[in-house]
Amino acid sequence: MRDARYDILFEPLAIGPVTAPNRFYQVPHCNGMGRKFPNAMIGMRETKAEGGWGIVATEQCDFHITSDIEPYTETNMWDSGDELYLGRMVEVVHRHGSLASIELAHSGQDAGNLYSREIPIGPAHRPVSAMHHPIQARAMDLSDIADYRRWHRRAALRARDTGFDMVVVYAGHNNTVPGQFFYKRHNDRSDAYGGVLENRLRLLRELIEDTKEAVGDTMAVVVRMAVDELMGPDGLEWQNEGRDAIAILAELPDLWDVTIGNWANDSQTSRFAAEGYQEDYVAFVKQVTSKPVAIVGRYTSPDAMVSAIRRGVTDLIGAARPSIADPFLPRKVEEGRIDDIRECIGCNICAAWNNLSAPSRCTQNPTFGEEWRRGWHPETIARAAKTSRILIVGAGPAGLEAARTAGLAGHHVTLAEASEELGGRVSREARLPGLAEWMRVRDYRVGQISRMANVETFRESRLDVGHILESGVDHVALATGASWRADGVGLSLREAPPVTGGTPLLSPDDIMDGRRPPDGPVIVFDDDGYTMASVIAEQMVTEGRETCFVTPAPLVAPWTEHTLEQEVIEERLDRLGVTILVRHTLVAVDGGEAAFHDSLARRERRITCSGVISVTARLPNDALWHALNGNADLEKAGICSVTRIGDCYGPGLIAAAVYQGHRYVRDLEAPVDPDGLPFRRERHVIEAT
Ligand code: ADP
Ligand code: SF4
Repeated sequence: MRDARYDILFEPLAIGPVTAPNRFYQVPHCNGMGRKFPNAMIGMRETKAEGGWGIVATEQCDFHITSDIEPYTETNMWDSGDELYLGRMVEVVHRHGSLASIELAHSGQDAGNLYSREIPIGPAHRPVSAMHHPIQARAMDLSDIADYRRWHRRAALRARDTGFDMVVVYAGHNNTVPGQFFYKRHNDRSDAYGGVLENRLRLLRELIEDTKEAVGDTMAVVVRMAVDELMGPDGLEWQNEGRDAIAILAELPDLWDVTIGNWANDSQTSRFAAEGYQEDYVAFVKQVTSKPVAIVGRYTSPDAMVSAIRRGVTDLIGAARPSIADPFLPRKVEEGRIDDIRECIGCNICAAWNNLSAPSRCTQNPTFGEEWRRGWHPETIARAAKTSRILIVGAGPAGLEAARTAGLAGHHVTLAEASEELGGRVSREARLPGLAEWMRVRDYRVGQISRMANVETFRESRLDVGHILESGVDHVALATGASWRADGVGLSLREAPPVTGGTPLLSPDDIMDGRRPPDGPVIVFDDDGYTMASVIAEQMVTEGRETCFVTPAPLVAPWTEHTLEQEVIEERLDRLGVTILVRHTLVAVDGGEAAFHDSLARRERRITCSGVISVTARLPNDALWHALNGNADLEKAGICSVTRIGDCYGPGLIAAAVYQGHRYVRDLEAPVDPDGLPFRRERHVIEAT
């Protein structure tokens, strides 16, 4: 049963004409499914409602063809055809007693309109900001503004007819028309919609009033808005126009949903921001309005949630990522199962997939996006029809997730780990600067299996072929991980560069194992492009080393653009005094120097160093697999299957290892035809000619 100190999270809240059943608000969030994978999106939203989120919102829903953000996959309300899938989402959300909310969006000067081929519109003649398109938005005149208001009103009416309970007028994140009118730097108009703050807020005020007049009798009208952009005086600051804007419009909407902008600031990773990081910027809002307020801040702890409400910072706990990592978070609080909460680790892999226009995936929740496609539920798995004895070798994210899932399914599980510590790569990587919250991947799973009587864990148990053949199990899962290469081979270098003269070439594993180059300046060579090289560079600086970060890419850690971190990583390295060299590829390490090829100047450059740490690629630790695959003794030992999972099968992200650990158990129950498709596909309807 729920602890009384969390009661406040379950108090209903009147929001205009509707009442939220509790304080858990799944805010609008992109997911890469939307209109292109609508069944997946619907399944995912239903799971949130089932898990107890009192309000479940759509992602950005573009309401006119002049707001076409192809190739990103959001939802649309362009015509009545969209009501089909949006209506279905409403239906499944209502099925669980939650309110359905829709975020009406128009990206204005952020929309390239690549599909619709409409000329983008905005407050001023400006190049389109998204993706450096060579396309300009044209300044809206008064008749455009009248059209715009009509389109918005019509979309609100459609939303009402579709069954939504709440409609969001979206002025947040620097990427929608009312926000673009509001920001000084985007609005150079001299008419009634430009100049003083009241004028720049005019369009937003009109949209709120139009929406209230059209649907306000039955739907709650929400305003989602950023109040600070973390740009100092160059952008919006909460102490100035952020505060004034809310004060001016204070009583107009039924709910204020306030954030910081842009999206990268709103969804900061745990490397750069802790739980509740938005409070400093948004805490004032409740002092200037009598209307309810919602905030976000990657809240995963019910105590922090209660505290934010009791301190008068917010009324609703908004969550995107915590609701992705654990769609059942509210239910777990209600049922007094706090230890079962699967906390978001703040890695932004979910955002990355969306930014790559692919259905979102989550490191912590391997079932996210698989609810419809594979019928996976985040909390339950059918009890195995036939209970098996399963040996899992290696307790990294793949092995731990396989053990947890197999335990849930009722199998008898033996988990053997070579080292004293569980967690594999997660335990190692989470000790690098800024990645401490990644440990939650381990801690959640270790906590779960420690309470399962049918899962036995053995530490300091390095298994060899003999142990496995003697184990007496039915199935073996090899989750023995991967090791970083120390020879520089990777994306850019297909052959190892020569290393001579005693200057070492080290790998990230060497660093995590405590090995270091001799005293002197170090070079971190990054041909991986994700996060590892930058945290190792940070570690080296922390240890007082002069550090140079070299990469063949044109940017530091280019893949982290997808996790919304690239700029802050580059900035942090620069602030720490790391020398940054882009477009340089390692050629040789030779007696106190490393040689690089500068691909821009097309010349060689030599840099003095005591060692190079190369972050390039990994190789699977699959010796056991090679010894067991096709081994004639398996049959005699009664072992039906040996399967590689996680990094041992193919080195990748932690998210991939968790997913494979989970999938291994699901597939064991319902074997998949190796020549068939393992999941349902979304199908387009082909018009008859
Ligand atoms: P993944 O990401 O696929 O889970 P990790 O590298 O994180 O892989 O974890 C692999 C784990 O397997 C490590 O903790 C390692 O100590 C363990 N391991 C490797 N070989 C053996 C073995 N022969 N017996 C038991 N454990 C092993
Ligand atoms: Fe959180 Fe990472 Fe999952 Fe996103 S992918 S919800 S940031 S754990």
